[in-house]
Amino acid sequence: MSHYPAEPYKIKAVEPIAMTTREQRQEYMKKAGYNTFLLNSAEVYIDLLTDSGTTAMSDKQWAGLMIGDEAYAGSRNFHHLQEVIREYYGFKHVVPTHQGRGAENLLSMIMIKDGDYVPGNMYFTTTRAHQERNGATFVDIIIDEAHDSQIEIPFKGNIDLNKLQKLIDEVGADKIPYICLAVTVNLAGGQPVSMQNMREVKALCSQHGIKVMFDATRCVENAYFIKEREAEYKDKTIAEILKEMMSYADGCTMSGKKDCLVNIGGFLCLNDDDLYQQACELVVLFEGMPSYGGLAGRDMEAMAIGIKESVDFHYIEHRIAQCRYLADKLTAAGVPIVKPVGGHAVFLDARAFLPHVSQEEFPAQALAAELYIESGVRSMERGIVSAGRDKITGENHKPKLELVRLTIPRRVYTYAHLDHVADGIIKLYQKRDQIKGLNMVYEPKLLRFFTSRFEPK
Ligand SMILES: *Cc1c(COP(=O)(O)O)cnc(C)c1O
Repeated sequence: MSHYPAEPYKIKAVEPIAMTTREQRQEYMKKAGYNTFLLNSAEVYIDLLTDSGTTAMSDKQWAGLMIGDEAYAGSRNFHHLQEVIREYYGFKHVVPTHQGRGAENLLSMIMIKDGDYVPGNMYFTTTRAHQERNGATFVDIIIDEAHDSQIEIPFKGNIDLNKLQKLIDEVGADKIPYICLAVTVNLAGGQPVSMQNMREVKALCSQHGIKVMFDATRCVENAYFIKEREAEYKDKTIAEILKEMMSYADGCTMSGKKDCLVNIGGFLCLNDDDLYQQACELVVLFEGMPSYGGLAGRDMEAMAIGIKESVDFHYIEHRIAQCRYLADKLTAAGVPIVKPVGGHAVFLDARAFLPHVSQEEFPAQALAAELYIESGVRSMERGIVSAGRDKITGENHKPKLELVRLTIPRRVYTYAHLDHVADGIIKLYQKRDQIKGLNMVYEPKLLRFFTSRFEPK
């Protein structure tokens, strides 16, 4: 099958993790109301809840923390960060923020007017919330294939240019301040966008005076897929591909907690001088001075170093290979997963896994709870619980997909840990008939997946 390269790092500091018994885990899960978000991390053996801010930093990044210049204004670490972002991303202006949503807040406020439309390749929760809060309507213009969990095509995150043209014809270009292009698409399972698609989107938007803003959160993963799948980029470096990608954007928002290899941080990039000026005025209100944006000097230093490390081919090759390794083991055992495997996670198809559990009995929630009890692995529900209720009718949204997300943190776990994850899932699959659904016994009004509680049927 695939080639799985060994870890391109060795271990210098270790963090012991909880070794628990099945009886203890049954107790912990019950106490947590069968919701993995309510477990304490001290009760978890392998934590695949998210890859956000869960990265292991390198020795150089830890050393960077010691040279933090904690000045209120003009910190040297800001200048280092700015220099690195200019070199690797190529944008003119940089505004640091405490994390990705801080940058989304600034961008949405300076660019969106009430009644505008912001098209994008599938939504992301915080991105869309900021757009809507500023009066815009989000319009999904991703290709249709992205909504199917089994179609295997190389660039499932691409924009459908016909959908973009149609929106321009319908509402007029002056109602579209920018297009938000996510590279890769998180909610489609980490699916990439091709360089050709970025080029075409930029050309069409330029014709109509519409700006292109990237959600660059997972841009290095996207660059790896371009190298692998777009023939003309086969011999280019990840850094060269990344820089060309960014050349098709007028700016970007970034969550440093993902592809910049840090535990906290983010930034907004802009080429336009006026927009930059406006962002500087607002960042003072929401984050801090334009030279720290809610971050300590040491955090900016760690992010600058992380950006340089993130474009190392061996790092990103190994990261993507870890996702494939887990997926291939599960597929070989017949376990149903979403395809193709993207850049940051493997998704179990809970409907196919538990066909005897109806959607109203929360199959993905039940599977995530059982997986924890079986093997101490923490995952996350992405199904009817996460989808919430319709604001007007109060009915449950019924998403097509009932998924359990297994997100791989960067540089944290070894292939042996992933073997343990796969073994636990395969064991559950073999006794899937015994897994029952859940009743929801507590339901908060907003973002219910975080704190809702359940009991076994
Ligand atoms: C995580 C994420 C964000 C938000 O970033 P935070 O650092 O969590 O605020 C935005 N877009 C995408 C695609 C993300 O994955």
